[in-house]
Amino acid sequence: MGTVVQITVSHTSESEARLAINEAMSELQRSDDLMSHYKPESLVSKVNRYGASGKVQVGEGFFELLREAVSISRASNGAFDATILPISDLWGFDKGGIVPRNELIANKLAFVGYEGIDLDQSTFSVGLISSGMSLDLGAIAKGWAVDRAMEKIMSHGIRNAIIDAGGDLRLIGGRPGKGFWRIGVQHPREPGGLLATFDLRDTAIVTSGDYERFFIADGVRYHHILDPATGQPARGCQSVTVLAATAAEADACATAAFVLGPEKGLAFLRSRPGVRGFIVGADGTLHWSDEVIEGMARR
Ligand code: ADP
Ligand code: MG
Repeated sequence: MGTVVQITVSHTSESEARLAINEAMSELQRSDDLMSHYKPESLVSKVNRYGASGKVQVGEGFFELLREAVSISRASNGAFDATILPISDLWGFDKGGIVPRNELIANKLAFVGYEGIDLDQSTFSVGLISSGMSLDLGAIAKGWAVDRAMEKIMSHGIRNAIIDAGGDLRLIGGRPGKGFWRIGVQHPREPGGLLATFDLRDTAIVTSGDYERFFIADGVRYHHILDPATGQPARGCQSVTVLAATAAEADACATAAFVLGPEKGLAFLRSRPGVRGFIVGADGTLHWSDEVIEGMARR
C-alpha cells in the first residue's frame, strides 16, 4: 500500500496482543495482494485484464468492496470514480510523475466511467463494458483493508485498539484509563504540524490531501487526487478529513469530497448518515460539516 502501518492494541495478555497484531498485519498484506493494480496477480489486475471479455469471479468480500465503490461513485456523481486507472496511470505519481499531453488525457477519459462496471450479485463476478477500462481502488482499498484488519483484532476479543495506515485510521474503544484515543490530523501545509486533535472512540477517521503524493512542474503542484471530469488534479481543496463508521466509507468519501471542493463536498458529507468531516479549501480556509464534532479540540 506504499505506507507505514501502526497498530496498537490493549490486552491483558501480551502474547495474545502480539498474535492479534501479526494476524492483522497479514490481513493487510492479503488485502493489498487482492486490490493492488500494481500487482499482476491481484484480483483487480485480473478484472482489468479479462473483465471486458467476460465476467471475472471475485468472491463475496471483494464483490462487496466493489459494490461500495460503485455506490459511492454514484452518490458523489462520479467525483469518486473507481475506473480512474487509465488517467491515474498517465500521471504516474508513483514513478515521479509527468504532466500528460491534453490529447492523451482526452483519449483516456473516454474509458473512465463507473457506469461501465458490471456487477453480477448472483455469481459474485464483475465485468467491464469496454476493453480500455480498468479499475483503480486506490482511494478506498486502504480503508477497506484497515476494516478487515480490525475485524481480525476484534476476533481475539480485543476491545481497545487502533490501526493507522498512513492517515487511514480505525479505532475501537479507547486508551486504557482514558476511554478515548487522541488523534492528530496533519496540517496540509505545515509538515509535521497538526490541524486539529480529537479524542475519539469507535470510529474511522481518514484524511486525503494534496501533500501526500505530488510533484511540482513549472511552479505548479500536481497531486494524485484526480477529477474524473477533467483528468486533472482536483483544485478545490488542500485536504479533507472524514469520520465514518468504517474506514472504507471514510476513505472513499474523503476522496469524493476533495474532488467536489469545499461547498459541494460538505453537502455530500452531510448527505450521508453518520458521516462528518472538515475540508481545508485551496485558500487554506477550514470548512466544517457540523458545528461541533464530538471530542474535537482545534489546536
Ligand atoms: P491516499 O490513499 O493517498 O490518502 P486517496 O484515498 O485520495 O489518497 O486515494 C488516491 C488514489 O486513488 C490515487 O492514487 C488514485 O489511485 C486514486 N484516485 C485518484 N483520483 C480518484 C478519484 N477521483 N476517484 C477514485 N479514485 C481516485
Ligand atoms: Mg480516499
